[in-house]
Amino acid sequence: MKRATGFFVPLIIVAAIYLSGAAAQGLPASAAGDALTIAEAAAALPVPGAAAPLAHPPETTSTRSLGPFAPPFTSIAPVQLFDNLYFVGTTAVGAFVVDTGDGLVMLDTGCGATDAALMTADMKKLGLDPSRIKLILLSHEHFDHYGGVQYLKKHVCPNAKVALSLIGWNMLQTVPMEFAYLGPRPQSVDIYLSDGMKIKVGATTFQVVATPGHSAGCMSFIIPVTDHGEPHVVGIMGGSAVWATPHEARLYKSSIEYFKAFAAAAGCDAGLGVHSQEATFAPLRARKPGEANPLVLGTEKFDTVYLQKYRDQYRSVLDSGKMQPYPGLVLPSRHATAPEPAK
Ligand SMILES: [Zn+2]
Repeated sequence: MKRATGFFVPLIIVAAIYLSGAAAQGLPASAAGDALTIAEAAAALPVPGAAAPLAHPPETTSTRSLGPFAPPFTSIAPVQLFDNLYFVGTTAVGAFVVDTGDGLVMLDTGCGATDAALMTADMKKLGLDPSRIKLILLSHEHFDHYGGVQYLKKHVCPNAKVALSLIGWNMLQTVPMEFAYLGPRPQSVDIYLSDGMKIKVGATTFQVVATPGHSAGCMSFIIPVTDHGEPHVVGIMGGSAVWATPHEARLYKSSIEYFKAFAAAAGCDAGLGVHSQEATFAPLRARKPGEANPLVLGTEKFDTVYLQKYRDQYRSVLDSGKMQPYPGLVLPSRHATAPEPAK
């Protein structure tokens, strides 16, 4: 009980700051609690036009190795996870697609055109029409998540709105080219995702939770789903790696617990990751009629199993001894090619 109290007090303070901030910025009342439509979310900026401090983020070309994200891609067979939730992607990175009954919502887009083309082809195999994508949610500002946006907007769903956190969008426009910012960047964003924001599309309300640490603008998501009509709630942590820098690792750690509070309030009983592997889905593919959905852990195990693996990652980074000492100034990127700050 003591632990719970100790946790919820700061949560309440954070919530109060958020709510007062929303009011102070003149956001619609619904931004502070109720769900926004896509159009309302796109109009929810305090100052019209403030969404585009630079019209076009720099394109990047680099010969730097993409490591595990380099082609050839190993596709994961597309799979329906719940009545209204699907996965498409590769062993490097994937996307989730929600059929809201009034268009599709895509969460993340892969590394670039190759991934996006694969994902849209796989959506068709699942009986989903990619041209019905109304909203593209980007978990964070790394190329393996935003890389497919340009392809999708150009070839698949030109009218889809693109949503990213304000911090993520600013990072895309200002951070020098390095590993995390390779690839074709989105050239515009329609919606700034903000902490606590809810966006309702069709029958589905998406809840956004700010979880910085993996990246500065990283967002996580809570999505209600059904399984043979039975309601469940999926939680998706937006960033899946802990960097060995003190600022980011500690932010990541606090974000896990912050997300936990939202997940508990929403009743999250299934957890998924944006870098899913076939092993995640194999039990589902082997599921027999009448069996429970193996992705459903229950609300307790969402914390003790799903979130615990992120805590364990944090712990392993701490225990590795590789945590870098605090430098004088930490640039928002962490892949070491940015120049040293002037003394
Ligand atoms: Zn990332």
